[in-house]
Amino acid sequence: MTTSDHAVTKRSTSDTVGRGTSSPSSWGFGDGQAIPWEYAPAPEARDVVKLQSRYGLFIGGKEVAPRSGQWFTTLDPATEEPLAEVARAGLEDVEHAVGTARRAFRRSWGELPGRERAKYLFRIARILQERSREFAVLETLDTGKPIKESRDVDIPLVAAHFWYYAGWADKLDYAFPGRTARPLGVAAQIIPWNFPLLMLAWKIAPALAAGNTVVLKPASSTPLSALLFADVCRQADLPPGVVNIVTGPGEIGLALVKHPDVDKVAFTGSTAVGKEIGRAIAGSDKALTLELGGKAANIVFDDAPLDQAVEGIVNGIFFNQGEVCCAGSRLLVQESIAAPLIEKLKDRLSTLRVGDPLDKNTDVGAINNAAQLAKIEELIEAGVAEGAELYQPACELPSRGYFVRPTLFTNVAQSHRIAQEEIFGPVLSVLTFRTPDEAIEKANNTPYGLSAGVWTEKGSRILKMVKELRAGVVWANTFNRFDPTSPFGGYKESGFGREGGLQGLLAYVRLEDR
Ligand code: NDP
Repeated sequence: MTTSDHAVTKRSTSDTVGRGTSSPSSWGFGDGQAIPWEYAPAPEARDVVKLQSRYGLFIGGKEVAPRSGQWFTTLDPATEEPLAEVARAGLEDVEHAVGTARRAFRRSWGELPGRERAKYLFRIARILQERSREFAVLETLDTGKPIKESRDVDIPLVAAHFWYYAGWADKLDYAFPGRTARPLGVAAQIIPWNFPLLMLAWKIAPALAAGNTVVLKPASSTPLSALLFADVCRQADLPPGVVNIVTGPGEIGLALVKHPDVDKVAFTGSTAVGKEIGRAIAGSDKALTLELGGKAANIVFDDAPLDQAVEGIVNGIFFNQGEVCCAGSRLLVQESIAAPLIEKLKDRLSTLRVGDPLDKNTDVGAINNAAQLAKIEELIEAGVAEGAELYQPACELPSRGYFVRPTLFTNVAQSHRIAQEEIFGPVLSVLTFRTPDEAIEKANNTPYGLSAGVWTEKGSRILKMVKELRAGVVWANTFNRFDPTSPFGGYKESGFGREGGLQGLLAYVRLEDR
């Protein structure tokens, strides 16, 4: 695939200006004139990760060859080069993994006192911190996300989740006063490709703290950090079978959640697959939590500190290339400040560095997979065709890999696809409003309800917005902040159930009266 395959040509800036050479007009070099300096390459060392040529399944505490006898290849999205071969599990492997998890639940983990479970979780957290650089590089290789994000956001949060839930493991009586918390049994957990290790932590840490055993299926385009986590489980001497990892396609995920010996299903991914899973297990007594898509409104009022808001908007939609379920993909701006805010945003976009995810200066890395890139490009083209105005900075994209320019659409109407559909890419749709009620009406006019942002100086306005926005998480004067103590989840087609905090623990226990 070539750069020109990826580029959308209708741009409001010069096509001829290369990466790192366009200047924001406010810098005084004149629009499109060269900035008189360039960032030197600052690549993170790739060899801190020792990749195996092949990865088997992780079942019963060991790496095992798939009984299916099949393998698939995982690619580096920044280069389209193969990274490793990975086992493609079959139905017999799902059977093996669930049976192993059940035995581990009955014979060891389910009966272990909370203080003993806590020791393992603390050990895992410590090892993750010790091996954080290795994990950050691997996560960046497999996902395409910038190393500064995997290093400074993903991996620290992963460890923080294990620390946090380790702390609860021996305190369940205090977590749920007056009730006795019992584990559910075997949890089937399916995770997506945008935050592979973080989603693993969100799911495995509370499950283990509460005394469950797990079978986890990572996304096929990003299985490697989960398989390195298997090594952490071994290093921590976690009893065999407590954590099992099966890699393979979506149909294996479906077989896993439908397995009669699975008690709990936790899924993060697309709304379409979430619905399919819901239908597949309806009528069974399996517990279910679904964390699905989103189309968050980031709402900026006329009294907001604009420069701070611009940083929040950029973080809201360009963090992780916008491949974030709670991304602030719809910017709602109060009409009176729309023009200066959009001007500042365009300036800021032209300073974003797009390119090699392993470079420590990169702001926007590669899109995770070819299908996702095609979806983003299709929606950008739909935005142009439907009459919205496109702005993309004139940065040069690498000649290989799945890259797309940061994109801003103005003059967007509520009915446009780019205002309605989850793009899951670095594309921001800007709409305007006049009154707070209009902002609420527009923000809630979506089938989703995962997150929102509010930018204003008035505390009372924040409280009103928080009350009336149908979103599981509302950030005020910030965006995309995560903490293990804080529950995360959605309304409507964004799913149900919460991850993080005590609520995240609740999803993995059965409460009995004392
Ligand atoms: P999917 O929902 O298809 O994938 C998420 C996970 O579910 C992966 O592990 C996938 O496996 C697995 N899976 C796929 N089909 C099934 C099935 N029938 N039963 C059980 N598990 C299944 O997401 P996509 O990767 O296809 O992305 C499509 C869109 O979904 C994106 O464009 C984005 O809009 C949205 N999305 C939302 C996410 C979120 O965090 N809310 C995360 C990822 C995507 P495999 O990888 O092997 O197919």
